[in-house]
Amino acid sequence: MFITVEGLDGAGKSTQAQILAQNLEKRGYQVVLAREPGGTKISEAIRNLLLDPRQETMASSTEVLLYAAARAQLVEEVVYPALQRGQVVICDRFVDSSIAYQGYGRGISLDFIITVNHHATRGLVPDLTIYLDIDPAAGLERVRQAGKTDRIEGETETFYRRVRQGYLALLEQNPKRIIKVRADRRVTEIAEEIWSYVERELRI
Ligand code: C5P
Repeated sequence: MFITVEGLDGAGKSTQAQILAQNLEKRGYQVVLAREPGGTKISEAIRNLLLDPRQETMASSTEVLLYAAARAQLVEEVVYPALQRGQVVICDRFVDSSIAYQGYGRGISLDFIITVNHHATRGLVPDLTIYLDIDPAAGLERVRQAGKTDRIEGETETFYRRVRQGYLALLEQNPKRIIKVRADRRVTEIAEEIWSYVERELRI
């Protein structure tokens, strides 16, 4: 089973992905947890390139292709092999992030993003996507408090509003795959709700 966790920066994706992995392991599932961009040596190198605040302004299509390249490597090296072994793969971000951030956020052609990512992932679609919904201003505030301000350099609340609109559009287009979970609550409360959806998906 392939589960992805999506949402704006500051929504608490990594925390929830980790709790979900622990909950699955407690019940005897073998879990592989990966983050995007990253998760392999090559993908982490691409991540450093993408997230380096000192870098020159990057062309939009370069950005799309680099995220897709990091993803292609992760899918080939980690995701497909784990799924073939019957393990559960949890991925912190996947193709939906590219559609929301580069597509809706930066205004890059959705057709281009979808086509490139279709090739990069050989058409892999998650069985379940948990979308952690947070108000853009609240998300930005959490990122600032966590001291990860390098991540948001140059990004405005308006940008995050567009990204959120992207996620909400994806949610509407994929009501069976994507589940919206309100992220402005206690960590345990959010984790319990996520677990109820995963339990249902696994039929346990
Ligand atoms: O999920 P994480 O916080 O590790 O993501 C790293 C950064 O990459 C975030 O700041 C996010 O805004 C950005 N990102 C992006 N486009 C993607 C995926 C991530 O701009 N497709």
